[in-house]
Amino acid sequence: MFAPVLVLNANFEPVNVTSTRRAIGLILNGKASLVLNGRGEIKTVSRSYPRPSIIRLSKMIKRPRPRVRLTKREVLRRDDYTCQYCGQRSSYLTIDHVVPRHLGGEHTWENLVAACPACNHRKGGRLLEQAHMHLLHTPTEPPSSARYIFGRHVRDNEEWLPFVDGW
Ligand SMILES: [Zn+2]
Repeated sequence: MFAPVLVLNANFEPVNVTSTRRAIGLILNGKASLVLNGRGEIKTVSRSYPRPSIIRLSKMIKRPRPRVRLTKREVLRRDDYTCQYCGQRSSYLTIDHVVPRHLGGEHTWENLVAACPACNHRKGGRLLEQAHMHLLHTPTEPPSSARYIFGRHVRDNEEWLPFVDGW
């Protein structure tokens, strides 16, 4: 009941990801319709329901263009789980402020990178030039495309791809 379900707006734009339980509730309330099943059925005593993979809202909801939230997890994903100083790929990485906070460095996409503990320690509280270190890539805000935002889910739900691509 907790498998993720992709929710499309009335115009088919991907809106968010919800649980199977909530998706079935929206369908039963007439607030959404089934777009893609593909996961069999859920049986109760009296009847069975399709187990949705994708649903579509009946009424268009207005919302601002989604952006990727600035979190440690998203910085690591943007940097492909790779230290931006030495290029080492690791499941244990820290977040480094390129311009250190005590020198006025901000908590922004442009000033945060994935760094292995060794590189983070070597750089310390210094600027790149002072530490004689270089970044592999210039950090920027990741794309706000649906493909990127829902990327983690798309990997596990390939049938979502045609509905997520292009938004
Ligand atoms: Zn490193």
